[in-house]
Amino acid sequence: MAQVALKNIVARYGSFLAVDHVSLTIESGQFVTLLGPSGCGKSSTLRIVAGLLQPDEGAVEFDGRNVTAVSAAKRNIGMVFQSLALFPHMTVTDNVAFGLRMKKMPQADIENQVRRMLQIVRLDHLADRYPAQMSGGQQQRVALARALAVTPSILILDEPFGALDRKLREAMQVELHALTRQLGITALFVTHDQEEALMLSDSIAVMNKGRVEQFGTPAEIYRAPRTEFVADFMGMTNFLPGEVVDSDSSSAKVRVGSAVFSTSVKDTIAPGEAVKLAIRPEKVMIGHLSAADMCFLEGHIRQITYHGNASRYVVDLPDGGSIIALQQQSPEASLAVGSNVRAHWSPEDIHLFRA
Ligand code: ADP
Ligand code: MG
Repeated sequence: MAQVALKNIVARYGSFLAVDHVSLTIESGQFVTLLGPSGCGKSSTLRIVAGLLQPDEGAVEFDGRNVTAVSAAKRNIGMVFQSLALFPHMTVTDNVAFGLRMKKMPQADIENQVRRMLQIVRLDHLADRYPAQMSGGQQQRVALARALAVTPSILILDEPFGALDRKLREAMQVELHALTRQLGITALFVTHDQEEALMLSDSIAVMNKGRVEQFGTPAEIYRAPRTEFVADFMGMTNFLPGEVVDSDSSSAKVRVGSAVFSTSVKDTIAPGEAVKLAIRPEKVMIGHLSAADMCFLEGHIRQITYHGNASRYVVDLPDGGSIIALQQQSPEASLAVGSNVRAHWSPEDIHLFRA
């Protein structure tokens, strides 16, 4: 398994900038995910790693060796895509053996390797089946076994579970997580699903419009988003407009409507600057009262929806905005639609961004 580095990669389609100066290092044995909305340049970046797309600028390095000009076939990459590329006229065994035959591996070694791969993905009992005789999840495991059989420098996966139903997708995620860690595989994974990225990855690169907005561990990305885009993409749906009224290098006082909140900041934001406060819905509580050290805004409940493990409240604020709260408990009788309430949260749950 190799360390893979992207150095200042730029890729254009005509005049359209699809990948905009992306630099990223995937350490040997690490599982890294490109996460972002459709069209942000994830697949293009992946194709550049694979050698299927030539960048206009920048370099791709495997273990410090520049492979930018090396063809896809010579990069030794295992690939799994959403649209399966299994050979329909070949059995499972022949599908998995394909890359090894291309490499002219001795027949006895091919048989051993195929058996080992099918054991790893728990399909050894279906070795003689054809793709059409298997479920979507089983086919995707064959694709994984085929990609791993060649002992690739890096395994790349482009939304591999996108076509599977939710339950199967979750089972495959758990399986892929266990498998990559067990085998110490270097992997580059692409998804637009933040939960999938959080669950699978050692590190996540959040992409927006061809750029990496933040690269960090799942906990860093989730707890400390550095930009409004990352915060929004990672589920912070409450954005309140505010203005800094006082600040120093570690804290700021922010006015939101008629309320003023204090919160910690990483760098000074000058008084007078327009900001947005982001607060995760699960950090917002709803009640008639709030503790003295909590931030709160008063409003009235417009909507309550029940989500099995949580209740979701939409509270309309007097200035026309609204705030969403997600609570683990079932709704209390006194918190009905129309009730005047305090939406409240702890100051440390505020994330501040320049507007
Ligand atoms: P993602 O995988 O994040 O959805 P892609 O890398 O596939 O994004 O595409 C990034 C952008 O480049 C999109 O706007 C897409 O429409 C455009 N694009 C992708 N492939 C081509 C192509 N072959 N020709 C022209 N534009 C393309
Ligand atoms: Mg894509």
